[in-house]
Amino acid sequence: MKADIHPNYVETSIVCACGATYPTRSTVQGLRVAICAKCHPFFTGRQKLVDTAGRVEKFQRKYARHTATVASKVASVSVASVSNDDN
Ligand SMILES: [Zn+2]
Repeated sequence: MKADIHPNYVETSIVCACGATYPTRSTVQGLRVAICAKCHPFFTGRQKLVDTAGRVEKFQRKYARHTATVASKVASVSVASVSNDDN
């Protein structure tokens, strides 16, 4: 290795919000992550909503509104087709 050009590569650990730690080596100390392979829903098989700033609630509100709109449209279409059949 050439002298004085390489960053300091030290032993450190990645700490997840769930408490899991992963020993590794890095040029920075104290890596913190919000989600890791021990707690990510893809690996745990459990559903866990990873909510950032109420995005999930926002989607659920929007989806509920969409479902209501579709339901009313379906109802009006079926009423229209019933009246067309009578003619
Ligand atoms: Zn984790």
